[in-house]
Amino acid sequence: MEQINITEHDFVKQNLTTIKRGKRLYDKYKCTSCGLEGIRYDLSNCIHVKRNKKCLAKKTKIKITSKYVLVNFGFDGDKKYDIVPCPKEYEDKYKKSVWVYSNERREPVRLLPDEFVYV
Ligand SMILES: [Zn+2]
Repeated sequence: MEQINITEHDFVKQNLTTIKRGKRLYDKYKCTSCGLEGIRYDLSNCIHVKRNKKCLAKKTKIKITSKYVLVNFGFDGDKKYDIVPCPKEYEDKYKKSVWVYSNERREPVRLLPDEFVYV
């Protein structure tokens, strides 16, 4: 078994209610992009998989559509931006959010679902 970060794939939970095996609770996950399956114990950011593979279909670039974000964080609405990892201090709350690096602010900023599109 290998342990990988949940953000490496587009993992979606497969079971409706958490599965119990012995004293451990876990959930089954499957990547919607490449089909890789794994399990996650408790609520860690870690997915256990048999063997990891590169997830080619995972979308990693976005265009920003929100005027507010474009103006206030110095982005260009015509450019594609790379999604960056969630900053450590926000991982508890916003791990699953989309973050991009703002050169103007010199820090990653979190985008809301209606502020960008995948490209
Ligand atoms: Zn995948």
